[in-house]
Amino acid sequence: MAEKGHFLSKSTFIRGVQCLKSLYLNKHRPFLRDRLSPEQLAKFRRGHEVGKLAWQLFPGGINCAPGHPSQYAAALEKTRKLIADETSVLYEAAFSHHGVLVLLDILVKNEQGWHAFEVKSSASISETYITDAALQYHVISGTGLNLNSFHIIHLNPDFVRDGIPDVHKLFSIQEVTDRLRELESFIVAQIGKSRETLSLKHSPSIPTGQHCFKPYPCDFIGHCWKKTAKDSVYNLTGIPFETRARLATAGHLTIPEIPAGLLEENDAAILSSHLSGKDIADKTGIRKIIDGSAAPVFVAFLIVRPAIPVIDGFRPFGPMVVGLSWSDFQGNEESFIVEPGENPVIQIRNKLGQLASESGMIVNAGGKWVGEALSQHYPDLTEKYIFTDLEEIFLSGYFYRPGLVPDAGISNIAAFLNLTGPDQINISQVMAGVKYMEAKAENRAQTLRELSDALYAEMTSCRSVYYFLKSIINNET
Ligand code: SF4
Repeated sequence: MAEKGHFLSKSTFIRGVQCLKSLYLNKHRPFLRDRLSPEQLAKFRRGHEVGKLAWQLFPGGINCAPGHPSQYAAALEKTRKLIADETSVLYEAAFSHHGVLVLLDILVKNEQGWHAFEVKSSASISETYITDAALQYHVISGTGLNLNSFHIIHLNPDFVRDGIPDVHKLFSIQEVTDRLRELESFIVAQIGKSRETLSLKHSPSIPTGQHCFKPYPCDFIGHCWKKTAKDSVYNLTGIPFETRARLATAGHLTIPEIPAGLLEENDAAILSSHLSGKDIADKTGIRKIIDGSAAPVFVAFLIVRPAIPVIDGFRPFGPMVVGLSWSDFQGNEESFIVEPGENPVIQIRNKLGQLASESGMIVNAGGKWVGEALSQHYPDLTEKYIFTDLEEIFLSGYFYRPGLVPDAGISNIAAFLNLTGPDQINISQVMAGVKYMEAKAENRAQTLRELSDALYAEMTSCRSVYYFLKSIINNET
């Protein structure tokens, strides 16, 4: 079962499926890689934690994981011996076949034979997970081990925490063996292409496109996209990325080359805004969202989405409001963050209830999970009071300025519109959530202070953008 050296692993194989140029650059020009973002590093840590927790589904196993890349040969040998001894549970079992190395999360032996389990820190199974599992199935079977079944373990989206999670309820296990067998010829062909690509003298000529972001943002984006021309179709930021990619694939590579007749009404309006350099300001549309007699309270929310719910009543990845920063029309303001580990629901409810009843209208900075978090845990408040997501105005195309990215978040939009100072603190919602969840006793006060400052800055961005839009509908600009 042990082989010397390997040219491909699970992660580099998936890299090659996404883009063979990325596979090549990763091997031959690794210095061109973008730095891993703190968000990506946090995602890896989360994957590791979830993987370890899933071991409890099959307790008492032996860990074969190499401590270091130089120890792969030892890990392969350890796995080989344990399988020969018919050890009932192995974690991180190592296999190598024709130069492809994989580490399987959990391998189980019972009366029916050998069963493989791959753990994913996700609430569903994606096509990429199936491809990844198909590679493992191919390699493990190639070593001569007859796998009776292959399963993917993922977080159960219907699990609701009620006390310490029972791993048998927290995780779902799905058998995918038949789907993996169907992919055998694709896997063999893709390994061949990967081998060929890695032996080239130069990187393959592959243009940038949608594949640079799907299924994962490629870490050579900085390198490959730096030469994107100013008038590239990809700089038509107001229209969906998929549409831009479709236009580029059809040969319309620059903004002036795009036939307006090809686009739907909203996208055609964005195109003419770029060509003329003029803003789109649809007053009727903006009024639909921010007109009203109530005096607004501006609120920015701090949201976390732990993979494994930490508070009773929450599901895996369930968005949880753990802090807010607000200001009212009289200049009163406050930033409030729940102590990590405490149940935030009642504290946030009290705060929100008080603000909403005073004003009747909460203008918030929006963000991907705010609506879901509010409607899941405060449905009575969202029914009774007006919660206005300012980002809707940009996402609906009611306001657009060439170059604006409608889903960039309110702080970035405010900065783009020159409504904030250069010292404004910007921190992504994902990163804020990570910092909150990972706050340690020794840095807790400092972390909460930073988060509070960032929340406050987001709230002031929300307020500035609101008054900017108000001035448009009041004909002041
Ligand atoms: S940025 Fe795009 S083209 Fe460049 S290596 Fe990555 S996926 Fe391939």
